[in-house]
Order: sequence, then structure tokens, then C-alpha cells
Amino acid sequence: MSKNLTTREEDYSKWYNELVVKADLAENSGVRGCMVIKPYGYAIWEKMQAELDRMFKETGHENAYFPLFVPKSMFEAEEKNAEGFAKECAIVTHYRLKNDPDNPGKLIVDPNAKLEEELIVRPTSEAIIWSTYKGWIQSYRDLPLLINQWANVVRWEMRTRLFLRTAEFLWQEGHTAHATKAEALEESEKMMNVYAEFAENFMAIPVIKGLKTETERFAGAEETYCIEALMQDGKALQAGTSHFLGQNFAKAFDVKFANAEGKQEHVWGTSWGVSTRLMGALVMTHSDDKGLVLPPNLAPIQVVIVPIHKTDEQLGEITIVVNELISEFKKLNISVKFDNRTTQKPGFKFAEWELKGVPVRIAVGPKDLENGTFEVARRDILTKEIVSKDGIAIYIQNLLKQIQIDLFQKALDYRETHITEVNSFEEFKDVLERKGGFVSAHWDGTAATEEEIKNLTKATIRCIPLNGVKQAGNCILTGNTSSERVLFAKAY
Ligand code: AMP
Repeated sequence: MSKNLTTREEDYSKWYNELVVKADLAENSGVRGCMVIKPYGYAIWEKMQAELDRMFKETGHENAYFPLFVPKSMFEAEEKNAEGFAKECAIVTHYRLKNDPDNPGKLIVDPNAKLEEELIVRPTSEAIIWSTYKGWIQSYRDLPLLINQWANVVRWEMRTRLFLRTAEFLWQEGHTAHATKAEALEESEKMMNVYAEFAENFMAIPVIKGLKTETERFAGAEETYCIEALMQDGKALQAGTSHFLGQNFAKAFDVKFANAEGKQEHVWGTSWGVSTRLMGALVMTHSDDKGLVLPPNLAPIQVVIVPIHKTDEQLGEITIVVNELISEFKKLNISVKFDNRTTQKPGFKFAEWELKGVPVRIAVGPKDLENGTFEVARRDILTKEIVSKDGIAIYIQNLLKQIQIDLFQKALDYRETHITEVNSFEEFKDVLERKGGFVSAHWDGTAATEEEIKNLTKATIRCIPLNGVKQAGNCILTGNTSSERVLFAKAY
């Protein structure tokens, strides 16, 4: 139970891993780097999916589904993309096993069942999707094409962690095609904004919107927009990316359209994705040493009601009052669980729901029945108060809204006090070492300097912030001129 949880102070990384498992979100599987997402964790992911899906549809996108496998020649077509993902691909070479003649009961790969062409298990779907778009796009009337797919992808990651980096992960990937560069750029920026809005309003995670440097850019993109979040240990996390693909994939797959004048042109593209990594971001941003803290907008259970009773008769009386309350909550779309298990004591239940991050707990005992009250406890700040029965459903509805706001504000305060401007490399190293967080510094714009800073400090350029003030200065490492500050951080 929660008292056994390693504290964040003791070992943040261990705290995270233990919490994900103990709160029943996910566990490691028998498959290297792949996790099992448990029902409680999956319920949170489903809430994320539902809201994102709604936002995608509201911005004109439709869902479709493309194959898991990509023939190698198709994968190779966009060279930069293929090269970028080559090191982390799973490849299917055979399609059949047979009995091992030397080892009864064992199977071996049937050498006669070798595929003529290897299949890549998709690490991302641009190749298969753009090869399909060739058949879908002929004229300007076919554009824009605004498609999203919910899928799993495989990237053979060497160092994996539950949710944050797994070899197989769940995500959505948007793939759009446009007639003009301006329209594609606008789409990439729009979807970054959709992600930011989702992160802030639903996950209660403040994010910085920015552009990736060339080194950190998606392989095959001309520009990568991103949202970057800050975790409680001062490390950054890339929470979502949106890529402007230029005409790279259109050229690789010969996707052209006839414009209004009948002239053939290559199509402009974008792609954008968020993954189950968001689950990790949610845990790392808000949770504490007692367990998960979930924002009400994503909590599968928003309110848990625990009866305090000695006798069955008391439980019967409490149940009558609780059932009335539940029907009021249902009318307000508040998800509620009445934990009337008689196999566990209230103290055990309190700890369990605390561990699972349920935003509000209501306890009700014989005294409350007499007084017409409930005990209401907030998970985020661990306060308790006695609230009158009259109007309690509306009171709880407002309380849930307040918790959502307070969680965001708390994360924002942390983030704001963890963006530090520095003007020398000494200062830079000192802040990274002592305080962590984002370090705002001048950089000369070269990949070589970026690489050297990374080698010396492990910090990478998280983004060139979009809302930054463009003020010139000198690179903290080389002293060369710089047109604006960028944000560095150690990152997950
Ligand atoms: P990308 O296609 O590389 O731009 O990644 C799309 C999204 O998936 C980003 O939000 C990444 O943070 C996330 N992501 C990338 N690799 C992994 C991984 N191994 N596990 C979980 N999420 C990932």
C-alpha cells in the first residue's frame, strides 16, 4: 500500500516506477520493452483518447486505419525518414514456423517460408499512408485531406520505461495533405495548439510551445513543432509533436495534384502525434508520495464514497442516503464509486483511493446521518471538511472544477520558478546541477555546439520557444552571435 511507496525525495525514478505499478496503471510484460496497460490505466487513456478524438473531429479530421506492416522498399522511399528510423526497426523476414526435428516440442523458423520482401513493423506510418494518398489525390478538389489514425507503433528502444518510452506504444498519428505550403504550415501549428490546449485544460499540465532544432527534428520533416512539459524532478518531457513535412513525402511517393489551372504540383504534408507517454507525464506532473493525483477531467472515478459503519443496519441506512447522492451525481455527469466492500476497513479504502488518485473522497457514518452532513476530502491538498447534505452535489461539481484549476496553477507555478535565464556556461552548468528545469540561454545555432553542450552536460535543446522575445546575444559556449534564447533541459 501507499506507505511502502518510495518517496520522490529518496529516488524520483523509483517512485515513478513503483507508483505506476502500485496504482494499477501498467506493468512490465514478458516481452522486452513492452508493457501491459491495466484497466485503471487504460480507463485514463480512453478518457484522453475521447477528448483528443473530439478535438480532431472538431478541427475537420476523420479517422482511418492503415496496415501495421510496411514493405521495406516502401519504407526506404523517403530517405531521411528511413535513415532516421532504421536503427529502431523490427523486421519480419519469415511467415511460418515448423517442428524442430532435433528438438521435439520446439519450433524453428521454416527456411522455406522466407518473405520475398521484408516487412517493417511501422515505427510511424508516413510511408504506407503517402503511398496510399497517391491513389486518393488527383486534383485540388481532393485537398485538403485530413486523416488521423489511432494505432500502435514499434520503435526498438534500448532503454525503456513504463509509458514514457516503450518499444511498442499506443498513439494517434495525423497525416494531412494540402495544396499550399502556407496551408500545411498552418495545419502543423494548429495541431500543436490543439495538443497544448488538451495538455493544459485536461491534463492540467502547462506546456511550452516551440520549434525543434534541426538535430531534434523528426526525420523527414522540414520543421517540427512541439509542446514541452516540466516534470517535478526538473526534467523536461516532450509531450507532443507536429511536423511540417514540406513536399518530402509527396516527392518520395509521387503524390501530385492538378491545381485550378490544370498544372501538376506536389502536395504539401503534415503529421502529428501524441502517445501513451502522456500517461507518464500525467503521473510525473501531479502525483505525490501517497500516490497518484489525477486531474478531475481525466479521472476515471471523480468521487469515491466510503461508508463508515459497524453494523449491517447502519450500512443499510447509509446506503439509502448514498444512493440518493449517486443519482444526483449522475445527473451532473460526475463519475462516482460507492465503495461498500465489507471485506475491507475504511482506513484501507482511504489509502487505496489515495494511491489511485481519486480527486474527491466522501465519507459518511452514523454521526453524519444524524447531522445531515458528509465528510469531504480533497486528494490534491489532503484537506477534509464537513459539508451539509443540502446542495452537496453542486458543491462537489464546483470543487472538482476548482481542483482542476488548482492543479494547473500549482504545476504552472513550479514551471515558472524553474525557467532560469543564464548568460555564461558556468552559470548554465550550475543551474542544471543545482536546480534543474528549463535553462534559457543563447546558442549559436550550430549542430556542433548543440552536440558539445549535450556531451558536456546531458542537456538538450528542448525547443526554440514560439512566444520568446527575439533578443540577440552571445552563445554561452562559443561566444558567437545568437539571434534569440532557446530552452535547454535534461529530458526524459
Ligand atoms: P514522433 O513521431 O517521433 O514525433 O513522436 C510522436 C509522439 O510519440 C511524441 O509525442 C513522442 O514524445 C512520442 N514517443 C516517441 N517515442 C516514444 C516511445 N518510445 N514511447 C512512447 N512515446 C513515444
